[in-house]
Amino acid sequence: MSASIPLIDKSLVGTTGARPGAMGYLTDTTLCIGCKACEVACKQWNQLPMDNFEWTGHSYDHTKDLGATTWRHVAFIEQMSSDGDGSATLPPFQSDWLMMSDICKHCVKAGCLEACPTGAIIRTEFDTVVIQQDICNGCGYCVPSCPFGVPDLSTTDHKAHKCTLCYDRMVDGLEPACAKACPTDSIQFGPIDELMERAQRRVADLQARGIRSAYIYGDRAVGGTYGIEGLNSFFILTAEPEVYNLPAAPALPQDQVGPAFLTTLGAAIALGVAAIAALRGR
Ligand code: SF4
Ligand code: SF4
Repeated sequence: MSASIPLIDKSLVGTTGARPGAMGYLTDTTLCIGCKACEVACKQWNQLPMDNFEWTGHSYDHTKDLGATTWRHVAFIEQMSSDGDGSATLPPFQSDWLMMSDICKHCVKAGCLEACPTGAIIRTEFDTVVIQQDICNGCGYCVPSCPFGVPDLSTTDHKAHKCTLCYDRMVDGLEPACAKACPTDSIQFGPIDELMERAQRRVADLQARGIRSAYIYGDRAVGGTYGIEGLNSFFILTAEPEVYNLPAAPALPQDQVGPAFLTTLGAAIALGVAAIAALRGR
């Protein structure tokens, strides 16, 4: 297996776009063992209810996805051979399973924050993105405005919920619960600049050891352009972003409104001209 790394601009590799003082996560999926300690620690600290455990029929991962009550989600991705018949041939140190602990990306330019009409979604002093529950009115505008499908409306209080990057722990100088609980340091917390340097060293080491497909998802070269300007929660991956259910080139939906309007206007004018020409030709 090899990942054709979707570099958007090679000169941007290792740049983050984060503001001074930004804190965040590096999630190194090559270290994840799929124990889901991070999911449990997140639920415990944030007092989130358990999910309805059921067999999905398509994975051993029974918590399925991020949601209003699942702010960290560990995806189990089974690698198959290209003809779908049996296991894939994999590089050294890799199993047939990719494990990836997904979370809100705390985007440098956040679609959810820009779309929120009540000001409930704020950027904190740590450059993280938090939904203030006492101000959210449950309109749901943030849901389609996130390129990663992160915020979710609760069926109980009907408000939007997502990861807070444990803001309440950070103000007390504590690391977020998921990073604290991770037994393999797959989830690392700290200043963004330090994490990015660490991620670059780790990718170079992985590549030197034969995992040529390793790369950083979330610097501005990969998945951080098109208006988002980088992620304060980035990942080391070994397959294409889509394999992990991540967009290869996430874009702010708001930025598509202008071009979509112009396209519609152009089509309307063309139809009008065609209709006038047809009527004149009668
Ligand atoms: S990943 Fe989605 S919910 Fe998280 S900050 Fe970015 S736009 Fe907002
Ligand atoms: S706690 Fe660490 S190793 Fe366990 S599932 Fe989460 S990221 Fe993976």
